[in-house]
Amino acid sequence: MTTRKQRITGNWKMNLALDEALELARGIRNRVRAHVDSDVAVCPPYPYLEPIAQLLKDSPVQVGAQDMDAFASGARTGAVSGPMLRSVGCSFTLVGHSERRAIFGDTNEIVSAKLRAALEHDLDVTLCVGESLEQREAGTTFDVVLEQVESALSTIQAGQMNRIVVAYEPVWAIGTGHTATPAQAQEVHARIRSHIGHLYDADIANSLNIQYGGSVKPDNAATLKSQPDVDGALVGGASLDPESFIQIIRT
Ligand code: PEP
Repeated sequence: MTTRKQRITGNWKMNLALDEALELARGIRNRVRAHVDSDVAVCPPYPYLEPIAQLLKDSPVQVGAQDMDAFASGARTGAVSGPMLRSVGCSFTLVGHSERRAIFGDTNEIVSAKLRAALEHDLDVTLCVGESLEQREAGTTFDVVLEQVESALSTIQAGQMNRIVVAYEPVWAIGTGHTATPAQAQEVHARIRSHIGHLYDADIANSLNIQYGGSVKPDNAATLKSQPDVDGALVGGASLDPESFIQIIRT
């Protein structure tokens, strides 16, 4: 039986001025120093990645991007590539966040290309998946989520799976205060894990870290994290306050 380490990632989204972002990173660094039982990571906005990676260089806190482009370079105004992210100190990137899918049009094919490119450029990946409220109410949650997982991983070999984390984030729970119940989260996480076992093998499935995301707060983190297939959290709003982020890590 594999023991998976909990992983807590803060997604700062498009928030904070530079001085506020540095202050938050310092606050997390100072509090995390004494507590390294979990993997801890933050995803600041692009312009702050380099100074924050510098600030967190000697701490256990990893720095990642919220998204990246599938191409390494070229005429793609506004885009940021994997090699750029590596060069400023990122060790990983999110791909497929539901806000990228809904607002910026990232299809399953685009997410798959970004994931492949991230690994090619030596970045670990947190693959975000999740169903909308309509899809849940229509009873298609498993179909939607497993299709997102399978499509994103379609070109990924077994040997690359140790660089992937999956974040299950029901869209209806993100930023709404409507957290999935621990049972709802567990049910989907277990299905994702068994599907990974089917696509690869049982060892890879058992080793895969599957985070839950969607209105995780200090007061609901413990019951979510105690589910057998929930291996941590991807945290949006509550990661903007060092005290609540650290409480989520410590629960
Ligand atoms: C997220 O953006 O990934 C997220 C889970 O946000 P929140 O915690 O605010 O719901």
